[in-house]
Amino acid sequence: MSELHKFIFDGLPVRGMIVRLTDAWQEILRRRAGNTGTGAYPEPVRELIGEMAAAAVLMQGNIKFNGALVLQIFGDGPVKVAVAEVQPDFSLRATATLVGELPAGASLSQMVNVNNQGRCAITLDPKDRLPGQQPYQGVVPLFGDQRQKLERLSEVLEHYMLQSEQLDTVLVLAADDQVAAGLLIQRLPVLGTNNLPGQANEDEIGLNEHYNRIAILAKSLKREELLTLDVDTILRRLFWEEQVLRFEPFAGATAPRFACSCSRERVGRMIRSLGVEEADSIIAERGHIEVGCDFCGQQYHFDPVDAAQIFTSPDAQPPVEPIVH
Ligand SMILES: [Zn+2]
Repeated sequence: MSELHKFIFDGLPVRGMIVRLTDAWQEILRRRAGNTGTGAYPEPVRELIGEMAAAAVLMQGNIKFNGALVLQIFGDGPVKVAVAEVQPDFSLRATATLVGELPAGASLSQMVNVNNQGRCAITLDPKDRLPGQQPYQGVVPLFGDQRQKLERLSEVLEHYMLQSEQLDTVLVLAADDQVAAGLLIQRLPVLGTNNLPGQANEDEIGLNEHYNRIAILAKSLKREELLTLDVDTILRRLFWEEQVLRFEPFAGATAPRFACSCSRERVGRMIRSLGVEEADSIIAERGHIEVGCDFCGQQYHFDPVDAAQIFTSPDAQPPVEPIVH
């Protein structure tokens, strides 16, 4: 089962989170792999999407916000768009659009930042958005301070956190066929302390020694450890000398889980709205109708009998269009 764990370091301005997506992540891969139009993700893309899904859960877990957190990469290479979307209850979905061939073992820049034009966007879309209200969006490039291409998603997101939130953050992300996982360590702003005249203000980026020590420990976490070890073991191995206080984990009923709003019924209604002639012409041409969900990759297959049923079922009559003058 997927799980999200939050913790703090007793008395220190540092907090952390670990996410492990298992069933939720496997469902994302299963839907894509079952889509005959796209096929499964190539391995490097799978890793990217898995890391994005894990990171998006961590970022959603990090904010108090009633709306979707959408992490997007707009690539200038074979991967045009990659998206992970996480709701406040940690239901999530993810997808990517590929055009053309991907080099075997492609790096992040070979996938999404060939000409250094790739972008990463983080959007907070409020649930009760007022008419005309725009969602909040922050955008960062996929290069570092010297315009060098970044080869890790974690570096891109650490930059984002620093630039837009002024928060020192360490992210360790990893994904394989079974697990998409992430560790986040973040320095909390300290308000009203250590600000006496003449005293060093430790609440400056990069200056808090406790944060720096814990950040170094977090960065020592290896990909294999993050993917294979349980959360208790990871926390013990990394922070055995620290006082880690843990919160009730999001597991079981509150765990991160896969969810997409698509369904066979919805796709059926969409086909019905095309009209019987259009549907018949697709069937005449291809023998069936295949519709893939843009948000999760799930493919819905309608053979001629299924398609005929769409137009003969009792609710098949389209609603009468109101006449607009
Ligand atoms: Zn879907």
